[in-house]
Amino acid sequence: MNKPGKVYLIGAGPGDPGLITVKGQAILRRAEVIIYDYLANPVLLDLAPKEAERIYVGKHSGCHHFPQEEITRLLLEKACEGKRVIRLKGGDPFIFGRGGEEAQALAAARIPFEVVPGVTAAVAAAAYAGIPLTHRDYTTTLGFITGHEGPDKRLSSLDWDKLAASVGTLVFYMGMANLENICKKLITHGRSPQTPVAVVRWATLPRQETLTGDLTTIAGKVSLLNFKPPAVIFVGEVNSLRDELRWFDNRPLSGRRVLVTRAAEQATELTTALEELGAEAIVVPTIEIIPPASFAELDQAINELGYIDYLVLTSVNAVSAFFDRLTVQGYDARALAGLQTVAVGPKSAEALASHGVNADLMPEDYRAEGIVALLKDRVFGKRLLYPKAALARNLITAELTAAGAEVIAPVAYASAPPVSAAENLRHALADRLDLLTFTASSTVQNFVDLLDAEQLSLAQKIPVASIGPLTSKTARDLGFKVVIEPIDSTLDDLVEAIGNYFKQGM
Ligand code: SAH
Repeated sequence: MNKPGKVYLIGAGPGDPGLITVKGQAILRRAEVIIYDYLANPVLLDLAPKEAERIYVGKHSGCHHFPQEEITRLLLEKACEGKRVIRLKGGDPFIFGRGGEEAQALAAARIPFEVVPGVTAAVAAAAYAGIPLTHRDYTTTLGFITGHEGPDKRLSSLDWDKLAASVGTLVFYMGMANLENICKKLITHGRSPQTPVAVVRWATLPRQETLTGDLTTIAGKVSLLNFKPPAVIFVGEVNSLRDELRWFDNRPLSGRRVLVTRAAEQATELTTALEELGAEAIVVPTIEIIPPASFAELDQAINELGYIDYLVLTSVNAVSAFFDRLTVQGYDARALAGLQTVAVGPKSAEALASHGVNADLMPEDYRAEGIVALLKDRVFGKRLLYPKAALARNLITAELTAAGAEVIAPVAYASAPPVSAAENLRHALADRLDLLTFTASSTVQNFVDLLDAEQLSLAQKIPVASIGPLTSKTARDLGFKVVIEPIDSTLDDLVEAIGNYFKQGM
């Protein structure tokens, strides 16, 4: 038999991937097998090595759970193969998660294990809904209770007298099916019918929703609105603090679903900023950066860098494409020692700096027009290298040539719609979308090319946020309603403009 591996029971937290512990994250990064649940956010699996085996043991489209014995058997089997096994569970492994039973099986089989706690649903939902679980003015006691009526009648056998009378804040897990019964029991056993109740579903995720009432009204509201699990139920006076303390679901973009069409490598910055304002960002890149048809021209220019006076970089993509090729050709940043670098804006300058090179010049207007205005009086008789996109406008080359420069403009990169984009878009459009965002004309054009006529006419009804005048023009020409365009064409300004638009209750 192999030397047994080790099993890590890790709490994944309640949903927001940022709520896993640093320790849990570090262990996931070294996983060989991951056995994960319905309530563990699958995004966390991306932390694990690509080759790690991923086994889903959650619900299958609302059907039954994987039998617990089967999960335990899997844990033992993989550990006996000598693997480092991660058992990733929603919330905390030892709170209503059967982590205790799994650990017992490991202990009995003498398989080494560790338990890494997680942020349990009650704690997380309370924080994100603005409900302090304890508060000196309201309560000093707290109970986590299962609201699930098991075959052993756990719910009915609870000591309701004591619960109702002596625990200030009660939190029920798995209680949605029995909500009415829970409220009745509490009232019957002496809790005031006016005790405030809050129900929080999909806590910590952008789709988090909260419903409030009291012990007499909440069950009716839940069934009227068809408010579905997973949800935790808070009973107690602390619920009255929510109006004062809510912060998560009253941000400018709370509850809004926003489509992000940027290239995958560039989407994160935009999605993070949108999420910070409360939006649910749906990322479907309609563009992907690919190599040009040929590198010959760029390679030649790189070999002749010594003769160049200005290197003009008009996007982050241009910076990466140029430096990738510089490296392939066996050079490094020193090859740029004799020339002046021009970055179109702060993002490109930052990308340039990441290669150890400062931008010597940057226009006030972060566009090709800005570059022309900046350089036209300096470049007479000079030689410029402008590594460009396959579909770039001719503006820089034409205007600066007219200003007396020799402009060498090799194609450094091209773009194309990613393979699965059409299907991902169809998927995204099947659900409600409150806003489409476009950060380049090419993303709009590809978006349209990827849709059929019916999908397109649907999409054209959704308001559009565009980064600047060119993108807006393309979008309008293609039949979209552009309602947001920041004054400065930067991501930060775009996000701010989106926030303002929805804040005004549009
Ligand atoms: N071990 C988990 C609980 C598993 S029991 C933990 O510590 O959180 C499953 C129950 O947890 C659900 O029925 C629901 O009551 C609660 N739950 C888990 N994730 C939740 C979430 N994101 N929002 C609201 N309730 C959640």
